[in-house]
Amino acid sequence: MSTLKFENIFTDQLPGDASHVNVPRQVKGACYSFVKPKGMAAPKMILYNQELAKALNISDAYCRSKEFLDIMAGNSIAPNSHPYAMCYGGHQFGHWAGQLGDGRAINLGEVLVKDGFQTLQLKGAGPTPYSRTADGLAVLRSSIREFLCSEAMYDLGVPTTRALSLLLTGEEVLRDVMYDGHAAFEKGAVICRTAPSFIRFGSFEILASQGDTASLHKLADYTIEHHYPHLKDVKNKYLELFRVVADKTCEMIVHWQRVGFVHGVMNTDNMSIIGLTIDYGPYGWIDNFDPDWTPNTTDLPGRRYRFGNQPIVAQWNLTKLASALYLLIGKEHEEALKNIIVDFQTQYLSRYQAMMASKLGFDHLQDGDEKIIADLNHILQTCNLDMTIFFRTLADIKSDTDIHQAVQRLTPAMYNEDMTDHEKAVLSNWIGRYTERLQSISWSDTERVKQMNSVNPRYVLRNYMAQLAIESADNEDYALLNEIYEMLKHPYDEQPEYDRWYARRPDWAVNKVGSSMLSCSS
Ligand code: AMP
Ligand code: MG
Repeated sequence: MSTLKFENIFTDQLPGDASHVNVPRQVKGACYSFVKPKGMAAPKMILYNQELAKALNISDAYCRSKEFLDIMAGNSIAPNSHPYAMCYGGHQFGHWAGQLGDGRAINLGEVLVKDGFQTLQLKGAGPTPYSRTADGLAVLRSSIREFLCSEAMYDLGVPTTRALSLLLTGEEVLRDVMYDGHAAFEKGAVICRTAPSFIRFGSFEILASQGDTASLHKLADYTIEHHYPHLKDVKNKYLELFRVVADKTCEMIVHWQRVGFVHGVMNTDNMSIIGLTIDYGPYGWIDNFDPDWTPNTTDLPGRRYRFGNQPIVAQWNLTKLASALYLLIGKEHEEALKNIIVDFQTQYLSRYQAMMASKLGFDHLQDGDEKIIADLNHILQTCNLDMTIFFRTLADIKSDTDIHQAVQRLTPAMYNEDMTDHEKAVLSNWIGRYTERLQSISWSDTERVKQMNSVNPRYVLRNYMAQLAIESADNEDYALLNEIYEMLKHPYDEQPEYDRWYARRPDWAVNKVGSSMLSCSS
């Protein structure tokens, strides 16, 4: 039986906390603190990721073993694993929040894989020195949301952390879901998530805030050595590090906008240094296209983390990372550093246009396309159209499709099927311009459809779907959880057996907690 074999690359190479006392405290000059998971009363595995297990060189038999269950619950420590929590800070909702850190995440170490290593991290395995006033635990609800969504994102081709296992702890956890004084006990759960690195923008910010240039150097060198090795010997490598992080971040955000994902808490502590989507909390998926939508109730007053603002927030977050790296980069390259930030907008816009062109089935961008895209964004919103269904259906429309028929075909995407005459007119007008534009494409219809269907998913994790899976899992019925998990492994394929999920968000889900309103409580 092939078992988990751990390396300790992060902890061997970076400065650690001298104290091993597991009480909430401020930690200085360290990237991590050693801490043991607390152990759970009666762990029970409910889902594990066979494909990922294989990539980690562990067998299916091992995944079914008590040994694996105990390690994933934190009840036993694997040979050569020295668990630790990472230290980081962050800007939350635009304000410096000081030390945050892994308050309920405990890293087990790295596992060597074909192209490097993956870090395994338990989320909800108990308190750490970074838990502040919280309990270090996680509930089934949020763990299902993270497991399903991170895997859905992976299969959509979006850079993301992944999920290896999901288990019930056999313990109850008290949570006040909507922060309105109605606390209740929920089932405790732990997921094991994986990523080449869990280093965040905030990992740099905390060291910079302490003026600890030596540790900052070590962290930047570590990041380059393991995650951007092509920068090792280049001139001004820290400036180049920032450039590549900006680039990766840009790429990630373009993907989010492509699939309709809203992170919901883009604080700098939730920004990965290798451009992965990380920390799935009150995220959401766009149903009716609304760039102003934020899934996070805490974010409602300013809608900072709304769908349409994600690129701007990413750029803002990059300025915070730049401020931290400035200590290494220095005044000499200040202009170059600023230029990367300014250039982010240009980079983003050009990639966004290219991405939208691919969603529309254009083989190249030409004059007038920007206007087609901008007008479409407006129409999707005013006509109350479902983003996923709209783009998927668009592939069925050809250059010679009659406008009236095309609009008819889009009916499944309409939240309001009785559109006003004005709405019908603007939609028809746009369709007319679109079908005309299709005449200047060199692809055959078959090629175009194939291409569009590879960027426009048919199935996404709509908020209500995750909520339904949660409600039945709470009653120990995991059929729906498994069904949605399986379906989302092939988001671009037609899967007739799952066609009930290729539909608009049902009306009942509009104002339901968990479907339209989510909080950070997890
Ligand atoms: P998040 O909103 O999940 O990004 O979390 C922000 C910070 O709060 C991070 O430092 C987390 O580790 C910490 N945190 C969130 N929930 C808990 C919890 N239940 N126990 C301890 N720390 C937590
Ligand atoms: Mg976080």
